[in-house]
Amino acid sequence: SSPIRLRNCSKTYGDGTIAVGPVDIEIAAGETVVILGPSGCGKTTTLRMMAGLEMPDPGGHVLFGADDVTRLPIEKRNVGMVFQSYALFPNLDVLENIAYGLRVRGIGLAERSARAREMMGMMRLEPFAERRIDQLSGGQKQRVALARALAIQPRALLLDEALTALDAKLRDTLRTEIDVLLRRLGITTVYVTHDQEEAMSLGDRIIVMDRGKIVQIGSPREIYHRP
Ligand code: ADP
Ligand code: ADP
Repeated sequence: SSPIRLRNCSKTYGDGTIAVGPVDIEIAAGETVVILGPSGCGKTTTLRMMAGLEMPDPGGHVLFGADDVTRLPIEKRNVGMVFQSYALFPNLDVLENIAYGLRVRGIGLAERSARAREMMGMMRLEPFAERRIDQLSGGQKQRVALARALAIQPRALLLDEALTALDAKLRDTLRTEIDVLLRRLGITTVYVTHDQEEAMSLGDRIIVMDRGKIVQIGSPREIYHRP
């Protein structure tokens, strides 16, 4: 698991929208950082720059530990991503979805099945191994997405509004599960949300963004007690 650093990262989209920055962010190895802010403030863009799904404007750099990964695409960064919309493969079953990232990395059948089954155990998905994605509930889909992200043994886990699509009760349950999981794994995690309660309960630290800028950084307690 790596520390992550964004140095002088801004993002201007083709239509001239300045979505982010410049921002500087440092995340320690094993830390869980939440990026919190209203819709449109630049959270997703910031996360996508960490992931390698967007390149920062010239002069911006993304570092994983000592490695400058600025020009590496997502498949070379070895990060696990979880999206609000799940982004699972509808034509594959649960086991195949979880093993997918291992397959594209050239890991053999025996090892990828073993690792996928271990992930299924961790996420309590064993009963659903042969189910197709469209036969799962939203919460089950998101557990598959988490298992798939973790199966590649990523350097960091990046979650974008991972619970937003779920109903309130499921959101609470899964939030608790994710909290326990992250503490157990000690993996560097960046969690994007517009939900203050989620941010408070999951973050070691919270980065508050507004209109493309960082307006506060601190522990949940520090953020909460500041006016
Ligand atoms: P958030 O995740 O906080 O909702 P985003 O990072 O998605 O914010 O968006 C930040 C700003 O950048 C918004 O104004 C949004 O409309 C704009 N934006 C996001 N993606 C694109 C894109 N591909 N092209 C142009 N503008 C974009
Ligand atoms: P969220 O608010 O959850 O980040 P959005 O609905 O704003 O999601 O964006 C969904 C997708 O559309 C993202 O991939 C984002 O990059 C893209 N997008 C957002 N705003 C714009 C925009 N103004 N122009 C083009 N693409 C955009």
